[in-house]
Amino acid sequence: MSLYLNHYGWLLNFFYPGLEWRLQHPDQKVLYLTFDDGPVPEATPWVLDTLDKYNIKATFFCVGGNLEKYPELYKDILKRKHRTANHTYNHLNGWKHSDDYYFANILACESIMEKLEEEVDIPQEWREKRLFRPPYGKIKRIQSDYLQEIYRVVMWDVITGDFDAQRGKEKCLKTAIEARRNGSIIIFHDSVKSISTIQYALPKFIEDSLEKGYTFETL
Ligand SMILES: [Zn+2]
Repeated sequence: MSLYLNHYGWLLNFFYPGLEWRLQHPDQKVLYLTFDDGPVPEATPWVLDTLDKYNIKATFFCVGGNLEKYPELYKDILKRKHRTANHTYNHLNGWKHSDDYYFANILACESIMEKLEEEVDIPQEWREKRLFRPPYGKIKRIQSDYLQEIYRVVMWDVITGDFDAQRGKEKCLKTAIEARRNGSIIIFHDSVKSISTIQYALPKFIEDSLEKGYTFETL
């Protein structure tokens, strides 16, 4: 059995109600590409150019520390009409930190995002309803309940394992294709660890999905 379990959101939703694992479009072949842990110069510009090449939009879950280092990359994501989301300032595991510390870290990321967004034209809806994804998918129930008062907390339906070099590029692609279904939220990473895998798997995944009649949207 694969180490990367896909399609298990229904089970966790029992314990963590309200999290978004997949958008329900039973009749629509829509997919949601998401990229976590950037932006970084080693990976994000390549992802942006690749998405442009196929004229598709995605959602980027950004780490505050990277936004501080690479503000122009963040603005570039938005200028190219992709959506962005909060992934904490220090890529924190919610299980390991007090609620106050965790929330303060999310707020630190949020302040940087909002400041940079002042300089870019984005849809009002994106300013009003913010998105958050807990790093490692690890969050306490109390944190999740509280954050949902402010955020859409977005998990995933398909985890490709692109960050695991041992696993191999072909397996990453195969997982993405086999687990894909209508409304899937798919995780890749725009990170140093993942770049060589996604340079192989992402264009092939996009091409295969377009061929099968899927379209891509932002969350
Ligand atoms: Zn992450």
